Amino acid sequence: MKGLISQIQHYSTKDGPGIRTTVFFMGCNLHCKWCANPETILPGKKIMYHKQKCMGCGTCVQAAPPFSIRLTEEGCVIDRKLCTNLNDMVEICPYDAYEERGQEIGVEELRRKLNRDIIFYRSSGGGVTFSGGEACQQRDFLLEVMRLLKEDGIHMALDTAGNWEYERVLPLLELADLILYDIKAFDSGLHWACTGVGNERILENARKIAGMKKNMHIRLVLVPGVNDQREDVLERFRFVRSLGDAVRQTDLLPYHRLGVGKYQALGIPYELLEIQEYSEDQVEKLKELAKKERLAVTVGG
Ligand code: SF4
Ligand code: SF4
Repeated sequence: MKGLISQIQHYSTKDGPGIRTTVFFMGCNLHCKWCANPETILPGKKIMYHKQKCMGCGTCVQAAPPFSIRLTEEGCVIDRKLCTNLNDMVEICPYDAYEERGQEIGVEELRRKLNRDIIFYRSSGGGVTFSGGEACQQRDFLLEVMRLLKEDGIHMALDTAGNWEYERVLPLLELADLILYDIKAFDSGLHWACTGVGNERILENARKIAGMKKNMHIRLVLVPGVNDQREDVLERFRFVRSLGDAVRQTDLLPYHRLGVGKYQALGIPYELLEIQEYSEDQVEKLKELAKKERLAVTVGG
């Protein structure tokens, strides 16, 4: 069985306790406007063009069908419909300006890669985090990997946006030691506007996981003027509190613009170009709001 992953990130200190290796899966069933990993939203391999690495040598222009890649002062301009051999540019470019994302990997191969850092997991109380995209989209592959890592005694966190059928994902939840659970809006209409899907099932699944007494970290992405309406934020805080003791940590994740370059590299538009990051004062106010609702929060995750 093969899985399709975007990236394996070693020595991460986010996405759960200790030193971790995070596996980013391809494919997601949400489409968040602020997604920092747009290369993972749609399944399948993607070619990214990194302008900052381009030396303007023109080799790719020569190798591509006529007019499909143009060299300009701003770097290469790629017509992705016309360029039928974009995949080849990863090998052709002498400066590694093209990068392929989306790597097929077998269960045993991934297990081996994740076991390489076991000494760091043990010494730091860390482990492996499955993220994405939505890792649960590749449920059968992930289940095999998790079964093996459980045998290896590795701590596993599952980072999910919760938009799945509970019974189908239950075996993954049972194997996970920690669930990192995103709640992107409380009002379903707002959720729909921000992500392309309603959230009834997501909230229901959060309640079910809390009922399993699984350790949960809830993650609340907040984007200025997009999903940070005061009433909705308050409702999210209240909902998190209603989940009870299962929630060990609540992370406020203030919007950042780190993903913008990826949109350019993929040649896709970024909807939130006008949105700026919060100031420190604004983040403090959000923390205060949580405090008033008697919810302990951390910033970042
Ligand atoms: S081959 Fe690479 S360095 Fe040369 S123009 Fe194309 S992207 Fe730039
Ligand atoms: S759930 Fe995560 S990976 Fe999927 S679109 Fe939203 S931010 Fe991106």
